[in-house]
Amino acid sequence: MRYVLFVGLLFFFFFFQAQVDSTQIFCRAQPVSSLGILDLLAMYRQRDTLQSHGASGHVRWQINGLEVVPTDSIARKYVASLDADYPALDSLWSSYLQADVQAFAAQKDSLMQHLRTKGWSARYVQAIRNLKRQQQLKLTGRSQVLLSFHNFNLAADVGIYSRGRYLRRSPRYTLMGQEAKSLGLYWGGDFVGFPDPGHVQRFANSAALVRQYPLLAFEFEKYRDHYARIYATGRTENVQDTKELLVTLNRLKLGQICACQYALIPPQMEPLAEAAYVRADTRAGWVYIQSRGENGYYYGLGRWEISPKR
Ligand SMILES: [Zn+2]
Repeated sequence: MRYVLFVGLLFFFFFFQAQVDSTQIFCRAQPVSSLGILDLLAMYRQRDTLQSHGASGHVRWQINGLEVVPTDSIARKYVASLDADYPALDSLWSSYLQADVQAFAAQKDSLMQHLRTKGWSARYVQAIRNLKRQQQLKLTGRSQVLLSFHNFNLAADVGIYSRGRYLRRSPRYTLMGQEAKSLGLYWGGDFVGFPDPGHVQRFANSAALVRQYPLLAFEFEKYRDHYARIYATGRTENVQDTKELLVTLNRLKLGQICACQYALIPPQMEPLAEAAYVRADTRAGWVYIQSRGENGYYYGLGRWEISPKR
């Protein structure tokens, strides 16, 4: 009996693990008895993908015919992130990330001190970076990602100089990387597929950051399509971090309320004048989402589940 139980538990464990480690997730339509402003925000984000990089403008939120005002601190941060064309993520999330931003600053100081003790001429050429700059770097091929640790003030690039000239390549970057790692930092020279020997960061990868700071999933979700494409088209050995990020984002979403692609007969409703709005009706089981400058659509309400195995 005990043996059967043990085998059963073991089977359950592996089955569960295999399911949860999926990079695929889908919204299953089902009755939703109640929802709140954070659910509306998540569904707006779900539909407001990379195609519309611009600001959402003022968004109106409605649940069962009643206006909802984002008043709690998390909802207000999410709204602030939607509101700006290129939100300054480092200042928006600075209090949330404070412990790690401070620890990173101390590590950076130690690293620079060490390099100067060696008699090298070195300085940080870039620390905080805004989203617009990050996009430019991505478009010109100098960065692989649309959202980087630089955007959160958790990465920096070291420049090493010789007789006043910046060294693009030098064995000194490898020595710098070794020192950075001994201080607990992660070194860009170790990146698979796109090594970046001047770069140091506080976390191993985006998945580790999101595990530590789950509210940031809201920022990464914006780029979900981008990550899914990288994962689908990249070489397996180059996309392990992307896979880990997708799995981490999915785990946070399991069981949460979502907007399903589900054929619905649109109810007759007075349109709102605002450019962007989200209206949910839990009794009728739909949500209407309209982003700025785009047509609105009705979706069935549901919850995120792991894709069925085929
Ligand atoms: Zn960098």
